[in-house]
Amino acid sequence: MAFKKLFMFLSMFLAWLSLGWLSSTFIFKLAGVDVTTQSFRSFRFVTIILGLCLLFLSALFYVVSHFIKEKERISKFIRCKVCGRKIPFDMVMCPYCFSDVRERKNELKEEVSGESA
Ligand SMILES: [Zn+2]
Repeated sequence: MAFKKLFMFLSMFLAWLSLGWLSSTFIFKLAGVDVTTQSFRSFRFVTIILGLCLLFLSALFYVVSHFIKEKERISKFIRCKVCGRKIPFDMVMCPYCFSDVRERKNELKEEVSGESA
């Protein structure tokens, strides 16, 4: 679940789209299209409004992505004290060396903070 990254991506995508809409009529002008007609002026107005709306949405997504807090990843593994292998935290015995790991559960919190998923 990486909603933060998803929103960031959406924000960038919408910003890119809005850039296209905003610059489209200016690109037409560069390409040699007659931009002095009344219909073209209204078309430019519509594209600029659309571009600004998309830009606003993009900014909104960007702000939202900053307020989303990613859930901290908690390691579901502990390390066996005898053989040093990673084993699931709810194990009673180490599946590799068959040593008892029940007493290790009290130390789970210290173990978790040092490990990445
Ligand atoms: Zn072991």
